[in-house]
Amino acid sequence: MRKDVAPLYHGRRTFLGKEDLVVSFFTEKCQYKCSFCDLGSKSSQAPVTESNLVKQIHWLFDQYQDYCTSIQQLSIGNEGSILDQNRFYGAAMDYLIERSREISSLEWVSFESRPEYIKDKYLQKLKRLLYPANIDVTVGFETQEETIRNGILNKRISRKQLEKKIALLGSMDIRLTSYVMLKPSPFMSEEEGILEAKRTIEYLHEACTKSSTSLVVYLNPTYIANNSPLAALMNRMGYKPPKIQSVVSTIRAANSLGIPIYTGLWSEKLADENGDYRSHDDYDKELRRLIKQFNATQNFDLLSNLQSIQKNC
Ligand code: SF4
Repeated sequence: MRKDVAPLYHGRRTFLGKEDLVVSFFTEKCQYKCSFCDLGSKSSQAPVTESNLVKQIHWLFDQYQDYCTSIQQLSIGNEGSILDQNRFYGAAMDYLIERSREISSLEWVSFESRPEYIKDKYLQKLKRLLYPANIDVTVGFETQEETIRNGILNKRISRKQLEKKIALLGSMDIRLTSYVMLKPSPFMSEEEGILEAKRTIEYLHEACTKSSTSLVVYLNPTYIANNSPLAALMNRMGYKPPKIQSVVSTIRAANSLGIPIYTGLWSEKLADENGDYRSHDDYDKELRRLIKQFNATQNFDLLSNLQSIQKNC
């Protein structure tokens, strides 16, 4: 067990125009075994006590007290499911919510979780306690193609299960953010990867429209997490992570749907430069800068007229 009480990760970013404090608490590791994921290696092998979680929360608010009048969104996770009360206990959540009242500028609270833990009663409680802040739940659906999502990535999430949770979120006026992987399969070409991400965004859009659930897409260019079970297959297949140019192509392809899209450009210290979009000879730092600007502003003009990007889809 670590001796310090800082969360695993914490930092500020601009998320769709809002100042967002992102935190990942140190808890017992996620019990799922998605093949592309090595996040569990950073978490505890044993349960983390309630008093340790309270100390982490205390540490966080101490650290960010100067930002309590500017933070607009608080994004909470634990390299797993923050709504899993066997890992992030109800009492710790109560304390976190109590401390969140110190943030006078708070507009949104986002919880990162698998669908299993999206439960009516617990969400009702969180909604009541957090009012007037808006609530978002972030899930890793990753890809619409069942054989990739459950066969290759081992996500163990069905469409039916997700759609039920989307309907629940819509009925409670809670926003869904979904991770979408760009080029999620080791057997895909670059073009197939872009097309699959586009199809996934279309599927999520359609499912959310049915129950009037607000949707944000969190696009992740797939990286090779060094110690993940999938890394061996990716390396054997000569898989190349998607190019930064393909991020732009995907955003362009999905733009007509009018969904906010944020792109994750960080491989969480789980991949080296050869295992993510930086590994290509034609990696363009300027495009990364523009995507970051788009993340903050959603100004599509930044990406719409770039001569270097082909209109793939
Ligand atoms: S992707 Fe999420 S659910 Fe799957 S193993 Fe990693 S942390 Fe757990």
